[in-house]
Amino acid sequence: MSNKLEQDINALAEKLNEKTIACRRDLHMYPEVAWTEFRTAATVATELKRLGYEVLMGSEAIEEKAMMGVPSKEALAKHQQRAIDQGANAELVKKMDGGKTGVVGILKFSKPGNTVALRFDMDALNILEANDDKHFPTANKFASANTGVMHACGHDGHTSVGLAIAEIFANLKDELSGTIKLIFQPGEEGVKGANAMVSKGIVDDVNYLLGFHFGFKTNKTGMFACNITDFLATSKIDATFTGKPSHAGAFPEEGKNAVLAAACATINLHAISRHGAGASRINVGVFNGGSSRNIIADKATIQIETRGTTSSINEFMKAETHRMIKAAAMMHDVSVETTEMGGASAGQNSAELTSLLGDIAKSTNLFNHILDHVSFGASEDFSSFMERVQEKGGQAAYMMIGTNLPAQHHDHRFDIDEASLINATKMVAIAASKLLSK
Ligand SMILES: [Zn+2]
Repeated sequence: MSNKLEQDINALAEKLNEKTIACRRDLHMYPEVAWTEFRTAATVATELKRLGYEVLMGSEAIEEKAMMGVPSKEALAKHQQRAIDQGANAELVKKMDGGKTGVVGILKFSKPGNTVALRFDMDALNILEANDDKHFPTANKFASANTGVMHACGHDGHTSVGLAIAEIFANLKDELSGTIKLIFQPGEEGVKGANAMVSKGIVDDVNYLLGFHFGFKTNKTGMFACNITDFLATSKIDATFTGKPSHAGAFPEEGKNAVLAAACATINLHAISRHGAGASRINVGVFNGGSSRNIIADKATIQIETRGTTSSINEFMKAETHRMIKAAAMMHDVSVETTEMGGASAGQNSAELTSLLGDIAKSTNLFNHILDHVSFGASEDFSSFMERVQEKGGQAAYMMIGTNLPAQHHDHRFDIDEASLINATKMVAIAASKLLSK
């Protein structure tokens, strides 16, 4: 690759920097949680179309039966209307009926080359944003207008970087080769969204896949990490037990106790055997049930998550979880219904791609502190895209791009340093441009 291409990318990133910051502030002000990213996705689709990308959205981008943890029809309709009230194109919002808020932009360049995909997550969290002037978004008048929802993980930054890269590549069409696929994913929080795009086959033809996150262990602007291992596979399951209510004093024998079934399940879920092939986790984090002290409880719900260092360890945890829940229900003669609320694969970055990214990061001079290795030890459903690309013979890698963090991720004072937006734009665009012609 010529040095000229890299210089062109840097020059365009600088030219677009103010626009990228403005875009980040706009997205920050209108945060949307999983499957309700109607305004965000409409903003993305409008821009991609303007730039000449082929755009996949709605059921072209999302496999309905693989969507997990989708809000009710009423909630979706309310959020669609809110998006339109906040300036989203109504026709585009309509295309996302059912919460299908994923967007893919595809641009084919004239010279032959690889298919390179970049993944950006778009969703926010149910958090009430700090409202004093010590918090940068509040002081600068772009704090959340959607009370109780906040971009507290930096996905507003990821999406705006994705759009900056889209514009850079559209401008450099004649210099590039292969095909670029820009994947804008809904519902990363709670690992709800990726599987619905993977199931649609969005990354089946991808030779190289890149993703990144601001912050985490790269908690200063100028830091960088790409040797990232140990994404934990995970599943999120809700179980609702239904029994029969009865007077607890006069006719307890006629009741079917859902709280006892849920309690029995909770104790025994935590007693699932460890796995010899690697680490596993289980947690029952929410337990609700019953209606009154003198009634045999007829309803109880538990919220469970499992994790494993490999997808197959997590599959073992998940199968055991379903068995325990069924057995507990049977023991107390109640019925039970389970719902899959989220899930992601395990994963490791591809080794060859990781070392290439490390070399690129050094050569760009964008970073002053490159970490040798980060063990992720958490879940991020980028891993589901990664696993599919690797299964099909491609390579995939996830990067962490440094940003000053005034507070931890998912805190009501979380913020990113806007100076890191241009670092991410340059790094990801330069890496992608090299992979297109590799
Ligand atoms: Zn995040």
